[in-house]
Amino acid sequence: MKLFNTLTRKKEEFVPLEEGKVRMYVCGPTVYNLIHIGNARPMIIFDTVRRYMEYKGYEVNFVSNFTDVDDKIIKKAIEEGVSADEISNRYIEECKKDMAGMNVKPATTHPRATQEIDGMIQMIQTLIDKGYAYPAADGTVYFRVKQFQEYGKLSHKNLDDLQSGFRSLQVSGEEQKEDPMDFVLWKPKKEGEPYWESPWCQGRPGWHIECSVMSKKYLGEEIDIHAGGEDLIFPHHENEIAQSECCNGKIFAKYWMHNAFLNIDNKKMSKSLGNFRTVREISEQYDLQVLRFFMLNAHYRSPLNFSADLMEASKNALDRITDAAAHLKDRQDAAPDSVMTQQEAAKAVEAELFVKKFEEAMDDDFNTADALAAVFELVKYANTNVTEASTGAFAKALLEILVKLCDVLGLIALKKEEILDKEIEDLIAERQAARKEKNFARADEIRDELLKKGIILKDTREGVKWKRA
Ligand code: AMP
Ligand code: ZN
Repeated sequence: MKLFNTLTRKKEEFVPLEEGKVRMYVCGPTVYNLIHIGNARPMIIFDTVRRYMEYKGYEVNFVSNFTDVDDKIIKKAIEEGVSADEISNRYIEECKKDMAGMNVKPATTHPRATQEIDGMIQMIQTLIDKGYAYPAADGTVYFRVKQFQEYGKLSHKNLDDLQSGFRSLQVSGEEQKEDPMDFVLWKPKKEGEPYWESPWCQGRPGWHIECSVMSKKYLGEEIDIHAGGEDLIFPHHENEIAQSECCNGKIFAKYWMHNAFLNIDNKKMSKSLGNFRTVREISEQYDLQVLRFFMLNAHYRSPLNFSADLMEASKNALDRITDAAAHLKDRQDAAPDSVMTQQEAAKAVEAELFVKKFEEAMDDDFNTADALAAVFELVKYANTNVTEASTGAFAKALLEILVKLCDVLGLIALKKEEILDKEIEDLIAERQAARKEKNFARADEIRDELLKKGIILKDTREGVKWKRA
């Protein structure tokens, strides 16, 4: 499996630090609003990376934070006359709903910056003790950039160039910095802002230190993959590397992955242009699976343009997959106890070719567009080869492949048939009645029918109990 590493600007073979395991950190959203479709891009992309790693047999420890203390959150809280906590709690809940709609798996851990302040203070203190950071007179703590020789290695910026750029950009109020490049680790509170006690002043952490600390706490000092949108390469990720490597004395992350930006109608998405779309708005018009398909139909390192036409095209394409799956399911259910003919068995083996193509595409830096092309080849193959004359077993074999590949991409090919509690209980009552009449064939039939819908029955002394599988 190869992936493009921003650090080396090369596609590299993925070799985990620990065999069979992947430690992965993805910078999450700042929660002051509903997430927009730009934020959805890294969520969908890196969830797909995770799913593919899991498909390959890796155990993935996937950590993604919520930035829940920030100027924008505080501003919103003041506007609404509520606490910053109320704003972040609200938008974390809303974000989780959108993630579920896009079939993004919950992270192994979703740390929140405000719950990790002690770790941040500790890391800042270590950096001060080691000479990599210094407190200024007002209690602001800065990172001493020049002290870290490798600063700029991720963004491929040269320290001298950076320095001259920063000098011309120097803003007033920052004279207390030793050097214009130095960045904030801890800042004093302003009136009405949330704050924490620290050895330097009552205040709050800078944004960059949050991720260094959360990554270390939940994944360890060295991790396999650190990821986010390309706007984070500089300064956010560059600063994370400086902090973590100076504090821990180890390489922070082996691979750095960045998704390109999502634009709308070929323009940058921004509030001032009024072309800002939230995931929630999209969900009013489409199943969010369509948004997921749209994102995966492009390479994650290419800029992607959002348009109504492309969403319609994505909807139609996704329908072709779900229609094919429904068709296979119908065939499978129509002839459940059949055995594949010899010819069908050969065709089922041939269909493995699409799995191979799919894997080759994904192994090549997660080329999800080509992986989808392999899925469509399978769809076409199934549509032409599974007919009224086919056995259910053959339909089942192709359906299993289709569902499996879609699942790696987080696309749901076959919607589970929803069965309501009331329907289950009615069927159980009917089964009991059939048993009383010694009609065991019908009773077994009902049990099997429920099992197919994922309902498991258990006969106990207190009666029949059931649970969803
Ligand atoms: P933020 O809430 O701005 O910190 O962003 C959360 C994540 O969304 C980061 O990984 C950003 O890089 C990413 N992101 C923000 N806007 C876009 C966009 N238009 N296209 C792609 N990714 C984006
Ligand atoms: Zn981060």
